[in-house]
Amino acid sequence: MKTLQTKVLIIGAGPTGLMMACQLARYKVPFLLIDQKKSITNETKALGVQARTMEVYQQMGIAQEALRRGLIGEAVNFVIKGKPIRRIDLAEIGKDLSPFPYIHMLVQHENEALLQHFLKTEGESVLWNTHLDTITQTDAEVEAVIITKDGERQTVVADWLVGADGGSSTTRHQLGMSFKGETHEQTFFVADTQIDWAYAQELHVCLDKTKFLAFFPMKGDRRFRIVGALPSHLKDIEGIQFEVFIEEILKDISIDLRISNTDWFSTYKIHHRVVDSFQRGRCFLAGDSAHLHSPVGAQGMNTGLLDAYNLAWKLSLVVKEKAAASLLKTYTEERLPFAQELVNTTDRVFGMIVSNNPFLRFFRRNVFPTLFKIGTSYDKVRKFAFGRVSQTGINYRKSSINRNHQSDSFNNKAPQAGDRFPYITSNKTNTFDWLDGTAFQLLYFYTKREEETIVQLKNYLTLSNLDIQFYQFDKERNATFFEGLGIKEQAIFIVRPDMYIGYRSGGVDLMDLEVYFSRLLGGEVQG
Ligand SMILES: Cc1cc2nc3c(=O)[nH]c(=O)nc-3n(C[C@H](O)[C@H](O)[C@H](O)COP(=O)(O)OP(=O)(O)OC[C@H]3O[C@@H](n4cnc5c(N)ncnc54)[C@H](O)[C@@H]3O)c2cc1C
Repeated sequence: MKTLQTKVLIIGAGPTGLMMACQLARYKVPFLLIDQKKSITNETKALGVQARTMEVYQQMGIAQEALRRGLIGEAVNFVIKGKPIRRIDLAEIGKDLSPFPYIHMLVQHENEALLQHFLKTEGESVLWNTHLDTITQTDAEVEAVIITKDGERQTVVADWLVGADGGSSTTRHQLGMSFKGETHEQTFFVADTQIDWAYAQELHVCLDKTKFLAFFPMKGDRRFRIVGALPSHLKDIEGIQFEVFIEEILKDISIDLRISNTDWFSTYKIHHRVVDSFQRGRCFLAGDSAHLHSPVGAQGMNTGLLDAYNLAWKLSLVVKEKAAASLLKTYTEERLPFAQELVNTTDRVFGMIVSNNPFLRFFRRNVFPTLFKIGTSYDKVRKFAFGRVSQTGINYRKSSINRNHQSDSFNNKAPQAGDRFPYITSNKTNTFDWLDGTAFQLLYFYTKREEETIVQLKNYLTLSNLDIQFYQFDKERNATFFEGLGIKEQAIFIVRPDMYIGYRSGGVDLMDLEVYFSRLLGGEVQG
């Protein structure tokens, strides 16, 4: 049997596995990416790309192309008895919070195509028509048996394995990991269509008494995705025809439209499931293989992409022997709580959307649209809601590798260690302009310039075996950044390669910096 060697074996080239490969390519870590399909998906599946994903795309240099291929979600309209009763502008819902202050509509296969193209420009590719069969692992390595297109069995020996093989993950089964949760009994449908009606190419959500139905705008002439619950009398979904049952639903809720084209139609069940850990020995799970939830809030693909993004820089430090393997435990530490919360919240919201409870139906129809409108007009609510849905508000404050020091030197607006580095604009520049590489960034903010301190910091960084870029900012020319970061006099921020604050200090304390780096790299991870 032929044997292949690699540093990281990635199972599955859906969005999660492709992102994992792209990130490892950025860090120049050798990997092998396999998928049982013959190419990227030809189904549109995920549609909503959140701001946090767009920020990652920006760092990779593919955000502009993503924008060109998709469509910004301009507004949501709540519809009752076929008539929009309330319109809420979403185009700037995240104003001042992200360079991408909206939800971007870009179908899954376009996302996959962008990532595949990125891989190609890095000189890498996917091994298609190849599937994972078995996994065994020791303390030193992972051995996977894969089966190629010709049915040939091959052994891959890798330092690490990432299972990004979707909801029915072979990796998860091979590792014997449980996937607790439930499958909702109701069947749902999705159809990508072309629609003639009187309304704008914006999101429309029908709040009629018993039916759930939503129209999502898609790139292209009058194109919309229709999502809804399948009528309960349609027990046997084999051979059902979208054109037939949709007419019945539309008539029921008095909506006047004509569907002229249907590109894709599918039915699906909704699951709420999550694993107990994202790691077993030298193997990791990411994306749908680790968590499944309803499409409410357009979170699934985005979460998988960001799982991979969180794991990749850590894996790169470990593979290059710059950090101890214990750093990889913080992948579960940082990502699992978010996945658990996501599964619970989408479950609750989904329950409210489809419930037949008279109180919830009344609330949905008569209270929710107004509440939504009023809520999003309050800055605090708007910021909170955008942070949650766009995933820009996810924080890793409880992670054992992030560190706050001399906190009294910040005001209470200051972001903390474990927060995503905030987006702050000033003149023609913004904080994200500094975060475009694969390195850590040490940002030094001062009111009074002290040459000796700067020399000390630079010397300290020269001795480090990490790739760390140094930037300095004086208060006079950078007052906006001082204000946005809540700095009183001086501060140090260390921003991780994933744009999260790893370290925050109100002064320069080289001994404390040493504590931060030794915990990060040396295996002294607590908890
Ligand atoms: C109708 C619908 C709408 C959705 N809308 C959104 C949305 O708007 N926003 C959002 O973020 N998410 C959305 N989602 C969810 C999103 O599609 C998934 O979360 C996403 O596909 C997960 O990506 P993944 O790479 O983790 O898994 P998958 O996309 O399932 O990819 C897994 C890959 O692994 C491969 N594979 C499986 N087993 C093996 C094996 N043994 N060997 C080799 N390869 C293997 C498969 O061929 C596949 O390519 C939606 C889903 C549906 C169904």
